[in-house]
Amino acid sequence: KASQEAEKRGWHLYLVGGAVRDLLLAENQKQVLLEDIDLVVDGFHKSADVGAGVELAKALQKIYPGVRLEVHGQFQTAALLWHKDPDLGSLWIDIATARTEFYPYPAANPEVEASSIRQDLYRRDFTINALAMRLTKPRAGELLDFFGGLLDLQSRQIRVLHANSFIEDPTRIYRAVRFAVRLNFEIEPQTESYIRYAIASGIYEQIQGKNGRAPALETRLKSELKYILQAPYWKPALQLLANLEALRCIHPTLELDEKLWWEVRLFDRCLQKFDPQKTLEHWQMRLEVLIAYLAPDFRGKVASNLQLPADSIERLENLDKAETNITQSLPKLPLKSEIVQLLRQYNLPTLILIAVRCRDVVYNVSTRTVRQKIWRYLTEWSQIKAPLNGNDLKALGYKPGKQFKEILDALLTATLDEKIDNRESAEAFVAE
Ligand code: ATP
Repeated sequence: KASQEAEKRGWHLYLVGGAVRDLLLAENQKQVLLEDIDLVVDGFHKSADVGAGVELAKALQKIYPGVRLEVHGQFQTAALLWHKDPDLGSLWIDIATARTEFYPYPAANPEVEASSIRQDLYRRDFTINALAMRLTKPRAGELLDFFGGLLDLQSRQIRVLHANSFIEDPTRIYRAVRFAVRLNFEIEPQTESYIRYAIASGIYEQIQGKNGRAPALETRLKSELKYILQAPYWKPALQLLANLEALRCIHPTLELDEKLWWEVRLFDRCLQKFDPQKTLEHWQMRLEVLIAYLAPDFRGKVASNLQLPADSIERLENLDKAETNITQSLPKLPLKSEIVQLLRQYNLPTLILIAVRCRDVVYNVSTRTVRQKIWRYLTEWSQIKAPLNGNDLKALGYKPGKQFKEILDALLTATLDEKIDNRESAEAFVAE
């Protein structure tokens, strides 16, 4: 239908981007499930109007009224959302008009104007993502491969279209890593040298907003980081980013040395254990371990540059204080109840962060014992309950109030310190 509507208007319609890549890669497999389809409209003899993509999307919505339409004004693109059956999920179809992007200065947000399909493909990141399949007649089904994408798909190479690609948009470094690891491709040597050149020339400073430019770049970096850190392949991707020195885009001093690598993996095992239901955002927690590895002064700034949520920024800003407090106080607390009282001021992510970071001997105390105590707190002590609860106290004739709360606290303390261990001893304790 989309092709027919385009043909009626004298336009060409192309399938572009990831869908073409994935279809070609899946050629020998039985099925490929597309969740996201990008279409581009182009004029037949001259470039289509900027609004052509939106017009086509509106025409399709008339034919399929159940479909949701969103128009994104700035780049004149439209998105259609189809709710397929519950097993297949939904399908997004983005329709844009062929366009060229200009980067007014390196790492800026692109400015856009209507152009031909070739130029549209030239603005894309890698050859394997710059393929198009014509959907309209004549020559429907024809593959447009201006930059050797097919060959790169066959030889499994990630290759940029031009030398300035990473300077224009440093988030492409993260995309290169993501595709390389996900598809099991290689970053082609010349492309790798462009990445290293872009990093060496300090392109990451643009991301950290040093020149007050391109805040949207941080948003894009965050979304690429999210993609990578939530994917099943996040570990090799992180290693490849580190190998390319691309973690400098997060902060110039960030390096994945052995200690940080150990911390990240231990942290992940802790998350699996303490948050199996994934109530926390695990990708964000992984990012927090990386940020926590920076000097205390940088942490809050990096977290807010990346627009992490307020609780995450606060956690990273206060981590140093919490760490000092816990590392210094814990060894001096002989009683279980005192340890519980100290640690329950902190939430799970803070405690895991501190536990995994306790590897060196800091403050002249063995931090191994600190880690063991946090671990015992999380696995056992935080779950210990007194044999009597508030309702039991009420049944014994006590009225809720200040003293009531004190009794409950005292009961818990006595239970933790093993002075009472059953109802009888607890009742005797309360009476006393
Ligand atoms: P995925 O399967 O991960 O969604 P995709 O290739 O569809 O892969 P998107 O991020 O959805 O990736 O982007 C769609 C297309 O837009 C890409 O295939 C690429 O052609 C282009 N693109 C996206 N981001 C950039 C970028 N930063 N620079 C240049 N082109 C880009």
